[in-house]
Amino acid sequence: MENDEDIDKIEELILEEGKKIHPKTVLLCPVCNSSNVTYYLGGQIGYMYQCKDCGYIGALVIEK
Ligand SMILES: [Zn+2]
Repeated sequence: MENDEDIDKIEELILEEGKKIHPKTVLLCPVCNSSNVTYYLGGQIGYMYQCKDCGYIGALVIEK
């Protein structure tokens, strides 16, 4: 009982969210808590984040 249509919709929503840039959102590094985090193109996954302070690269960041 798979529902491919729902999955397609969710993927569309994720893509739309990815296109939006929220200037008021502050990204925090989960390793060193720095706000010096930028978007980092991550190939297959789409995009990830990079911390310029400790060098962390990953899909997980803290958003405030
Ligand atoms: Zn960091």
